[in-house]
Amino acid sequence: MTTQADPTAPNRVLVLNSGSSSVKYQLLDMGDHGRLASGLVERIGEEGGVADHGEALRQVARRLADQGVGLDSPALAAIGHRVVHGGTRFTEPTVITDEVLAEIEKLVPLAPLHNPANITGIKVARELRPDLPQVAVFDTAFHSTLPEAAARYAIDAATADRFGIRRYGFHGTSHAYVSRATAELLGRPVAEVNTIVLHLGNGASASAVRGGVCVDTSMGLTPLEGLVMGTRSGDIDPAVVFHLQRVGGMGTEEIDTLLNKRSGLLGLCGANDMREIGRRIGEGDRDARLAFDVYVHRLRRYVGAFTAVLGRVDAIAFTAGVGENSAAVRAAAMSGLEHLGIELDPVHNAVRASGPRVVSTAASRVAVAVVPTDEELEIARDTYALARS
Ligand code: AMP
Repeated sequence: MTTQADPTAPNRVLVLNSGSSSVKYQLLDMGDHGRLASGLVERIGEEGGVADHGEALRQVARRLADQGVGLDSPALAAIGHRVVHGGTRFTEPTVITDEVLAEIEKLVPLAPLHNPANITGIKVARELRPDLPQVAVFDTAFHSTLPEAAARYAIDAATADRFGIRRYGFHGTSHAYVSRATAELLGRPVAEVNTIVLHLGNGASASAVRGGVCVDTSMGLTPLEGLVMGTRSGDIDPAVVFHLQRVGGMGTEEIDTLLNKRSGLLGLCGANDMREIGRRIGEGDRDARLAFDVYVHRLRRYVGAFTAVLGRVDAIAFTAGVGENSAAVRAAAMSGLEHLGIELDPVHNAVRASGPRVVSTAASRVAVAVVPTDEELEIARDTYALARS
C-alpha cells in the first residue's frame, strides 16, 4: 500500500538527545531529510551553564523560535527522544504515554547515569507541546534480538534474573542505521548481508548483524563492557574491582568513576582524542603508542570473535568519530587479516571523504567500508513512522 504525500501535512521532526549535562537537538524535514536547525546546550547544572534540563529545553525552544521554526509551528509532526536504556520491556520505538513514561522510570536503576536526563527531557517537551506525538527511541532496542546464548552472562541465574543482569547493548540506533546503510552501499538487500559494525566514537562498540538482525554486541549491562573507549576501560577481569576494593581500599563510586571516566585511552596515555594520540605517536610518545596498540588489539579481538559468531562476513563497517576519520586505526585493525578474506586498499583507505565508501580492494572477500552514522535521522525516521501510523 502506498500513501500519497500530502504537501500540507506536518513533516518536521524534532530529535532531542538529553544527556547528563547536555541537550543536543536537530530539527529535520522528513521530505528531504534536511536539517532545519541543530545545536547543543551544554554545562547543564554546572558553573556558567543553565540550571537544569527544564531550562535547557526552554532555551532550545527559544532558539528554534528565533530561527522561525518554533515548537508551535504547525509543520512539526512529532518529537523523538533518544532514551538510553529500554531494558527488556522496550524492544521498539514507542509512543510516549504516562504509562510508558512510568515504565522508563522503572528502568533508572539499570541506567542511573543516563535515563534520568532522558526522562526530564521527555517531561519538559510534553509540557511544551502536550498535543504532539512524542516517541522514545531506545539505544538498546536493536540488540533485543540477541540470542540468549549471547545475551546471558554465566552467573547464578536467579541472581541475574532478580537484578535484570544480562547484556543489553547500546548505540543500537547507530548499529541499525549503519548496518542498513552498508547493505545499501553494497547494492544488496539487507537480509542477505552479514556485517560487523564498528562504532568507534568517544564511546565505542561492535556488533554482529546477520541479515539486518543483531546477533551479538560488545556492550553489556552498561556501556562499560567491550572495546577500549575514550575514557572507559571496556573488558576487564571483574576481579579487578574486588582487588581495588580489598587492596586499594577504594569505594564503589570511586571505582565506577575510575573505569568509566579515567580509563580507556585517557587512562593509558592522558589523552582521549585519537587526533592528539596520532600527533603524539608522531613525536615518539611511548604512552600514546601503547594506548593506540591496546585499542587496536581489542578491536581486532572483537573482529575475530564476531567473524566466528557470524560464520560468513560480507562487510565490516567503520563508523563514528574515530571509525570515520582515522585511517590509521582502520589500517591497523585490518592489517594481516587476508586469511579472513579482509584486504584493505591503502589508497582508498587514506582518502578523506564525507560519504559512505568502500575502502577494501576489489579482490577482498569482505567489503570494508566507512559508513558515517546518522543517529538523529534514524530516530527521526522511527518517530515519524510512528507519528503517522
Ligand atoms: P564521536 O563520539 O563519534 O563524536 O567521536 C569523537 C571522537 O572521534 C574524538 O574523541 C576523537 O577521538 C575522534 N575523532 C574525531 N575526528 C577525528 C580525526 N580526524 N581523526 C581521528 N580521530 C578523530
